[in-house]
Amino acid sequence: MNDNSNFEINGLKIDPKIFTFKFNCKCTGECCLYGVYTDSKEAEEIVRIKDKLTPLFDRTQVKDNNKWFEPPEKDDDFDSGIAVGTEIINHKCAFLDEEGLCSLQKFANLEGGHKWKYKPQYCILFPLTIYEGTLTVDDDHIDRLKTCNKNPMPETTIYESCNEELKYFFGEKDFNELEEMRNQYLSSLKTKEVA
Ligand code: SF4
Ligand code: SF4
Repeated sequence: MNDNSNFEINGLKIDPKIFTFKFNCKCTGECCLYGVYTDSKEAEEIVRIKDKLTPLFDRTQVKDNNKWFEPPEKDDDFDSGIAVGTEIINHKCAFLDEEGLCSLQKFANLEGGHKWKYKPQYCILFPLTIYEGTLTVDDDHIDRLKTCNKNPMPETTIYESCNEELKYFFGEKDFNELEEMRNQYLSSLKTKEVA
């Protein structure tokens, strides 16, 4: 993480690297092949809607909800303090269908709710992540993937690529605060360049 970070919103530290890291989201969704860590509360909510969700599953997905999640683990980066990984089934996340679509998002769309209503927060945020209380770039995971950000656009940052996701995550008021931090940080970089 960048050392000069003193940015924080509601107790969540903001790594200023998110304002400058070059990123281009352009692949067929490789990040969904390896599953994701969800908050145990999110996993419970997914199991709660299982009877409506499973009719959307195809032959590559398993309808038995006991096979959807790994055993819970303690993790303070999750609101409940407990993280639960989604299982890999047929070489992809249990919720990914053979067309490369997330069944949780498909169901939310069908229901007429927000498209990310049932999606785990870590799926929404990636390629950003929350690590040890800091919103930062998930560069370890990006590097592990074969196709993610292999040709970043010099003019596009991860912050710009994830604008919609950040607005959703923070809400309007806090997102505006984040925008101010970004402007402040980018101005400070320009001042350093001139000096
Ligand atoms: S975040 Fe990376 S792996 Fe996921 S769809 Fe975008 S480019 Fe692909
Ligand atoms: S829950 Fe959906 S978005 Fe998240 S990794 Fe699985 S298929 Fe992808």
